[in-house]
Amino acid sequence: MSTFDKTILVTGGAGFIGSHVIRLFVNKYPNYKIVNGDALTYAGNLENLKDVQDKPNYAFAKIDITDEAGVEQLFNQYHFDAVIHLAAESHVDRSILDPLAFVKTNVLGTAILLNACRKHWAGNHEGKLFYHVSTDEVYGSLGETGFFTEETPYDPHSPYSASKAASDHFVMAYHDTYGLPVVMSNCSNNYGSHHFPEKLIPLMINNIKNNKPLPVYGKGENVRDWLFVEDHARAIDTIFHNGKLGASYNVGGFNEWKNIDLVHLLCSIMDKKLGRAAGESAKLITYVKDRAGHDLRYAIDATKLNKELGWSPSLQFEEGLEKTVDWYLSNEEWINHVTSGDYQKYYDAQYEKR
Ligand code: NAD
Repeated sequence: MSTFDKTILVTGGAGFIGSHVIRLFVNKYPNYKIVNGDALTYAGNLENLKDVQDKPNYAFAKIDITDEAGVEQLFNQYHFDAVIHLAAESHVDRSILDPLAFVKTNVLGTAILLNACRKHWAGNHEGKLFYHVSTDEVYGSLGETGFFTEETPYDPHSPYSASKAASDHFVMAYHDTYGLPVVMSNCSNNYGSHHFPEKLIPLMINNIKNNKPLPVYGKGENVRDWLFVEDHARAIDTIFHNGKLGASYNVGGFNEWKNIDLVHLLCSIMDKKLGRAAGESAKLITYVKDRAGHDLRYAIDATKLNKELGWSPSLQFEEGLEKTVDWYLSNEEWINHVTSGDYQKYYDAQYEKR
């Protein structure tokens, strides 16, 4: 018999957002056993969790969610009460190069996890929960005005967002068809520490530091909403404990930025941090051919989460960005480790040859 109140599988816990969710849950809930189930792809890094790895309520299990037998074995070993599902292929540019990898992990992997829950929780849904973490990209693109709400019809454009949309539909189908206790959230772009440096903000910080070109797609006019990753982890905590079964919640920062304005802001923060003359880092900005199918604008309306469950972002963007820059500047070893090997090959193919 477990001495813990709950045993929770967090998939993708070695990734960017997952590691923040694990850190929050392991520290805040010593009465929960948190099992980090991760395949450790190029994006998964156990160094992200060095500070919690020895806690008695934390365990790591190397598991590929597309391996049905492996997932079954893990469920037999731990008898999970809940799953917080973050494991995914998550990078849009990679999805354009290799869409099937996204179908496999994001669609098939999610269905395998849902099926394991359906089987292991059959006849007793008391205290059980499958929490699916998704993205606002499933809603497609907005024009100059308007916001995505939970009622916005799905209209994904990239292989990444299409695979996430399909996984969202499977989650709701398992709720509607089998009564599986599920909840879901769709979040805007996250930023913060431990973010793999293929994504916009860490890529720019790293390149500014190393005096490398700053690749900006098209004219940099695309608009994204940005949320500090620790605020997303807090939202996941709130929804996990208080969300309505079968509901979805939009999570966002009420914080829209054009890519080019964001890059300029980062350049000015970095000029100060590195003791460079004002405007020095911005000289590195290089416009590159736009991404195929690039959505113009995402903007999230997170009113439901705020009104029903009382969550709101805690940090102003400039403050969060400065914290993020400080983390990257003082964690050079982390960056060196993750930018070697496979990532370096991918990076070279993507950016250096343009
Ligand atoms: P990430 O790429 O940093 O991490 C993904 C993790 O999943 C990695 O640790 C990787 O090893 C693991 N993984 C990948 N394939 C796997 C498989 N087949 N089996 C087991 N583990 C596997 O991603 P992230 O940015 O932390 O995103 C986490 C989740 O949040 C994803 O579902 C993503 O769609 C969603 N999301 C991300 C953002 C964002 O801004 N990053 C915004 C909204 C939603």
